[in-house]
Amino acid sequence: MAKPLGSNLVHVKNHNQALVLRLICTNPLMSRSQLADCSGLTKMTLSNIVSELIEKGIITETVSRSGNATVGRRPILLDLAESSPCICGMLIKRGLLQVVLGDLRGRILDSAAIRYEAFRDSDELIRMLLDAYRKLKDRSKRTVAAISVAALGPVDVSHGSLVKTPNFYGLSNVEVTKFLKKSTGLPTYIINDANAGALAEKLYGRGKNLSNFVYLHFMNGIGAGAVLNDMLYEGDIGQSLEFGHTSINFAGPKCSCGNTGCVELYANLKRMNEQAAALARLYPDSLLPKNAVHTWNDYVSCADRSDALAMVVLDRFCEYVSYALTNLLNVLDVNHVIVGYDGGTSSSFIEKAISSRINRMVMFADYRSIEVRHSAFDGNGPLVGSIAAVTNRIFNRSICRGEGDEKLLQLFFPDFHL
Ligand SMILES: [Zn+2]
Repeated sequence: MAKPLGSNLVHVKNHNQALVLRLICTNPLMSRSQLADCSGLTKMTLSNIVSELIEKGIITETVSRSGNATVGRRPILLDLAESSPCICGMLIKRGLLQVVLGDLRGRILDSAAIRYEAFRDSDELIRMLLDAYRKLKDRSKRTVAAISVAALGPVDVSHGSLVKTPNFYGLSNVEVTKFLKKSTGLPTYIINDANAGALAEKLYGRGKNLSNFVYLHFMNGIGAGAVLNDMLYEGDIGQSLEFGHTSINFAGPKCSCGNTGCVELYANLKRMNEQAAALARLYPDSLLPKNAVHTWNDYVSCADRSDALAMVVLDRFCEYVSYALTNLLNVLDVNHVIVGYDGGTSSSFIEKAISSRINRMVMFADYRSIEVRHSAFDGNGPLVGSIAAVTNRIFNRSICRGEGDEKLLQLFFPDFHL
């Protein structure tokens, strides 16, 4: 349960500082006057906060390039300072580790990618992450404020660990944050990859103006995260919305999770390839590579070029997803879905296929309409979200949980105390 926080003066000040920083970092550049309007703060209060953040080296003033100098002075806008502390984001996927440095605007400043076949043990995983972190840190002049790991589930955010992940080289209960924190001395966090994607959309992407939405991610499996009442919903241990393991067939095959007929057993790349092979002779002109194991990107790019076989196979994938998604939307009463995957397309074939189905199936279909949007980050939502998992703590300082948060927030708000 979150620690209750009273509203003494220092908390009010911290709250206002965090609000101003959030507005600056999640919107196009604004003047002090625009910030006062957006925040509801008096110009005097805002001016004090802005001065402190400039003095601390977090934000800076810049002259608008779009103003017309012949008419009047170009407005002074507020931006994140180039010397402001950055965040190290990490994404753990099967076969690939990605490590980045990002700023409070969610922009990736530098990155490293490590492909791997397997791990001997958890030490090797930690060592690979640390090597990449040190390489990026040495190349940057910025202070690294924190490390945040987005990982394939299940994760346990309260213990900072990867729990027993299916098909993950036999590793289980890897206390990722404990080892990274011990080696770097930095506050370190962990978040489920799909939850990270949802958070990226809420702070920097297509969910900025939505109070409630579901984020779906097609990656190694099918992940989902939800923002409810403007906050990421993580559940008790950070493992909310295990979408891929919701059943669409109680008489279906047994899943490794213990359930039967999980949607991931039907909507997966292996099944797509089997279907494509079975139908190939009916589509001799298909653009899909002949006699090959197709990748997800093959299907998306061919469907974008109106390839009939790719569209049939992707449509079936979307059909399975739509059954599970309808269940979820009926439970949550949410009208917006954001979908992220590699190989974003101009045709939005996947979004349209899911939208047309769920808008027929969802309860109260006559009274509500579900909008399906493509992610602002294509397949990179979870990676951007690893950064957002830290910026969200900074922007919403009221949800701080412990010693690590206090140290992190004091970098940005010097008089911050839990
Ligand atoms: Zn399952």
